[in-house]
Amino acid sequence: MPVADPRPAPARAEGALPSPAHIDRRLAQMLAADSARTGAGKTARLMLMLTRSCELRCAYCFVALREDEYGTPHDDVRASGGVLPGEIPRGDLSVATARRAVDRLMTSARPQLGLQLFGGEPSRRWDTLVAAVDHAATHPDRAGRALEILLTTNGLGLDAARLAELRGLPIVVQLSLDGWGAANRFRRPHLVPDDEAARRWSTIAETLSASGHRWFLNVTVPPAAAPEVLARYHEARAMGVPALQLNYATGMRWSPDTFYAWLGGLAAVLRHDAADPGPMALYNWQNGADPAPLCGDTICDVDGTLLQVGAIFHEKRFPALRAAYHHGHLDGAEPFDTHRATLADLWARTRAALSTEDAEVFHQGMRLGAGQDLVARVVTAEVGRPPFRG
Ligand code: SF4
Repeated sequence: MPVADPRPAPARAEGALPSPAHIDRRLAQMLAADSARTGAGKTARLMLMLTRSCELRCAYCFVALREDEYGTPHDDVRASGGVLPGEIPRGDLSVATARRAVDRLMTSARPQLGLQLFGGEPSRRWDTLVAAVDHAATHPDRAGRALEILLTTNGLGLDAARLAELRGLPIVVQLSLDGWGAANRFRRPHLVPDDEAARRWSTIAETLSASGHRWFLNVTVPPAAAPEVLARYHEARAMGVPALQLNYATGMRWSPDTFYAWLGGLAAVLRHDAADPGPMALYNWQNGADPAPLCGDTICDVDGTLLQVGAIFHEKRFPALRAAYHHGHLDGAEPFDTHRATLADLWARTRAALSTEDAEVFHQGMRLGAGQDLVARVVTAEVGRPPFRG
């Protein structure tokens, strides 16, 4: 069992941060309560791995990206039935498999539905993306239930014409950028030249805002950039983004200093936002989110394999999690609601699959999620009502 950081919480100018013991107690409560988003009776969420291709190679990305079978739907390169648990499939998600995955989501008995388009960079399979979104939005078994479709994208493949194609559909765009200028040093262009990526990013905020779609900026902060959390917030405001979500990178080692630099930076961001709200919504006011490494969502890989999403988030860093988080395959007949594990079960599977040292890195990431939840609660109580605008 990983050992909790024994250091006391440093008192900072922005106020005392939660102690290690307080964080551990909160984490235990969060595990016992299960996912705030996908726990019993809540939203049925399915993520689709549209491709393993991406224009970038971000320093904190542990998805096993590859370009050698980009453009080839998986059904065309291997027989259906999926690869063995633990093995990483090649190619892209086919339109047929994407539709079958949406069919499986619609077998859920839950009152709300969520579909997330993911990868790799999902816009690199625009044909599959449009087919999956259309199928979900018009599915007869949706039966009038609320459906949110989240498009997670680096923005390089989006333009006004493509966004217009999605008009009228319940799409929310999650633009993953680390900020502007030096903040983007963790995002490394791989298939496009640096200046071409910068040129496309220079207009993406205006293009998204003009599209009429709801969108928000998703910023991932690795440990090396932990002291820059407040700077990322100010950059987002200067860009004029409508909403911001600040995240910490998972699968990386957070030292006691970077751990508390993240929490202190988040507290400073929340206090600043409370004192001077401005037009940008800050999603970090919402506490109770799953500790990031243990995300409660289910993902369909390019071959139709169903996994807890942490298996893919971490597959290069913690390859043993692919087998540990395996939930079956679309070829089975089980209803969608059986394809997930509780957060407590996931942590038990994680401890059983990883070495003591890797489990400790994973556990520290979970603790950071619990600490973040406590910081949001403390600042919310301090400023009265949360100024959250979703
Ligand atoms: S844009 Fe996303 S999928 Fe691509 S390398 Fe970065 S984090 Fe990974």
